[in-house]
Amino acid sequence: MVTTVILGMLCLHLLCFCVMFLLISTRLHGKKMGMDVFALGNLLLGLAYILQLVGGSDNDGAMSIVNHTLTLCAPTAYALGAMRFFDIPTAVLRPLLLLAGAYTLLQLLIQTTLGSEVRHALLAGLCALLFFAMSVTALRIRQTLAKDLRVEMVVFAVLIAGICVLNAIKFAMILDEGMAALDMSRRFQKVFYLYMSFLATVLPPCMIWLVLRRLTDELRNLAAHDPLTQVLNRRGLTDALEAHFRSRTAAPAYLLIVDIDHFKQINDNHGHQVGDQVLGHVAETLKATVRQGDLVCRLGGEEFVIIAHSTDKGGVMQLAERIRAVIESSEVPGIQPHQSIRCTVTIGVSDDFTSAQAFDESLQWADVALYRGKTAGRNRVEWGSVQAV
Ligand code: GH3
Ligand code: MG
Ligand code: MG
Repeated sequence: MVTTVILGMLCLHLLCFCVMFLLISTRLHGKKMGMDVFALGNLLLGLAYILQLVGGSDNDGAMSIVNHTLTLCAPTAYALGAMRFFDIPTAVLRPLLLLAGAYTLLQLLIQTTLGSEVRHALLAGLCALLFFAMSVTALRIRQTLAKDLRVEMVVFAVLIAGICVLNAIKFAMILDEGMAALDMSRRFQKVFYLYMSFLATVLPPCMIWLVLRRLTDELRNLAAHDPLTQVLNRRGLTDALEAHFRSRTAAPAYLLIVDIDHFKQINDNHGHQVGDQVLGHVAETLKATVRQGDLVCRLGGEEFVIIAHSTDKGGVMQLAERIRAVIESSEVPGIQPHQSIRCTVTIGVSDDFTSAQAFDESLQWADVALYRGKTAGRNRVEWGSVQAV
């Protein structure tokens, strides 16, 4: 009786969260983060447990066979949903239908040759293996796909390991005691379905938390980057500088302001779209030329700022000269074959600064140097500092 009530509650949880996952997935236009597939997983498992409730002690009829197929397809759907969450493209319906067909046939074969006991043991064994693989994968992807979700992955791995162990015990019990192990009045069955009910209550909010984290991270990323060139915008630069100077061991930073020469003419002669491509090309070149850890920002229009760390006056002047030369000698890619577009930049470099607050002053000095470079003929690097004036 108690087990039946737990099973009923479990069905209710699964189906409620199935609807919630579906609602969330309809709000996530385009990228659904696997939510629609998790909804499918919940639906399959919910249906499996409804069959179990309706079928009662019928352990070898058609209902039991369908129940087992649904029970195996549900965690597979969760695994496929997780792949989609981590941006690994995967088909869902075809593999699930294939699995459902193949497993139903296998069950029919086993039922007629080896009997119910082996069929039930097979399901418990396969579920134990599947959950083991999922638990290990959750731990392993902390180093790769889920670097930003390390704690969450450990929680998932532990929760899934629990159901893996319970299935392994069920497998051993069926082999040992036969069908008696599946009696719903057994204490083990109570513990099994209580744990499933606990998972069905705890896992969905955890999944929603993962989606929320990804969405807020994406929003933060969008707010910090320039949509045209994908480098930092002014706000992103301010945040990154504050984060850098918060560290006690932060080295002084140098500021370079890079301005494309006669950019208005490029726009006027070739159109705004080509102008945008030139901006993209310059941004890519800057990113490829600076060292890892240096910051590249589009300040606005055709002006970029670079913050160079761990260097000195000689090093930063070399970097500026390298950038100037690379841009001067490279062609803007993606322009029509008969058109060849090149551009040059003028760069103003300022003294080092040691706090986010000193950034504006440093920018002013770099701007003064830039202006000097423009009036001196453009396509050059100029140094600007308090001492230089
Ligand atoms: P200088 O060599 O003195 O820097 O001259 P310039 O023409 O590069 O500078 P100016 O400030 O006169 O012109 C900047 C131009 O940049 C004017 C503006 O229309 C264009 N611009 C600003 N933002 C964008 C953008 O996002 N895309 C494109 N294509 N053009 C832009
Ligand atoms: Mg310009
Ligand atoms: Mg300008």
